[in-house]
Amino acid sequence: MSNKTYEMLWDCQFCGTTKNLGVTHRFCPNCGAPQNPDSRYYPSDEEKVAVEDHKFVGVDVTCPACNQLNGAANEFCQQCGSPLTEGAKAIRLDEQTKEAGGSFESSGSRDLVQEQFDAQMEEIGVKPKTKNDEKSGNNLKVFAIIGVVIALLVGAFAVLNMTESATVYADSHSWDRTVSVEEYSEFTTMNWRDSRPAGDNMSIDLGSCTQRQRSTNRIPDGETCRTVRQDNGDGTFSERQECTTRYREEPVYDDWCRWRGNRWEDAFNRQTSGEGLIPEPYYEDVSLNCEGQKRLGCQRADYSGNYNVNFKGNENRTYTCGFSQEVWAEVPIESVWTIEVRRIDADAGLCNTLERQN
Ligand SMILES: [Zn+2]
Ligand SMILES: [Zn+2]
Repeated sequence: MSNKTYEMLWDCQFCGTTKNLGVTHRFCPNCGAPQNPDSRYYPSDEEKVAVEDHKFVGVDVTCPACNQLNGAANEFCQQCGSPLTEGAKAIRLDEQTKEAGGSFESSGSRDLVQEQFDAQMEEIGVKPKTKNDEKSGNNLKVFAIIGVVIALLVGAFAVLNMTESATVYADSHSWDRTVSVEEYSEFTTMNWRDSRPAGDNMSIDLGSCTQRQRSTNRIPDGETCRTVRQDNGDGTFSERQECTTRYREEPVYDDWCRWRGNRWEDAFNRQTSGEGLIPEPYYEDVSLNCEGQKRLGCQRADYSGNYNVNFKGNENRTYTCGFSQEVWAEVPIESVWTIEVRRIDADAGLCNTLERQN
């Protein structure tokens, strides 16, 4: 550890001597009064005095009987011999930090009378105003508002989802059918040299590759350091370095290429549609080149269809629901069904709740 140790400063409350040293001056060099550890403060960079070979044994204790300042190693007061177990331990100051290149200011003489007065006022509630308290109060308000908003959203969602049952009857049938034709074709696509796209006989076009940024490397690039001061509570403070690695970003290039190959590609669709059960649903006739063979220019087809029944309910509302072709063909016109309907949007029927009633 490269920690360096320095003397804290303190002011004598009795004679007003300032900038006494925390270790060297256990008593005021002017009037002899014992050091009050609560009056300690950090010096500026120019004022600081190093303590060589400092051995930290613990936080100082003030004798409960005579107010003498004792090191932590003492079991009994060095002045009056009283046991120190009940003595008040020195309160340590918060850490100070500075960025590289900056300098420390002195944390300044303390007004102990004012500090004690403030502490008492706060204790009896006359002065409940530290920044943290205000913040937590605001946080509570924020939480309360968020809670109300969430409750409203949940409520709105529940209302939107409320349904009621509606009686409807089958009014008409409709259908549509599609023949989707694909053709085995040559295609090109861009990709990295080492990432072969899906397809048959894939190859890279000669001379088609160019350099392109593919990713970014993070390269360590020195350190950012700051200095932290810690009050040891025994009249000294330590300075330590805290460093984190800095990074710079460097682009990584790779070959971006045009790939060529063969695959089934969408060629065209043919749609048919109709109302009612007669005539029966049919596909448009398409003639396919060398059907299904994996040669350039050959074609294959995919067949699909939708079979809907239109239901009518109150106030001439209509609901359209899809079925398999077999079930669809068996739904009688005028048959009676129930369906759940959203209260907020009575035109939206939930087809999965349809139930035949007769
Ligand atoms: Zn003094
Ligand atoms: Zn004592």
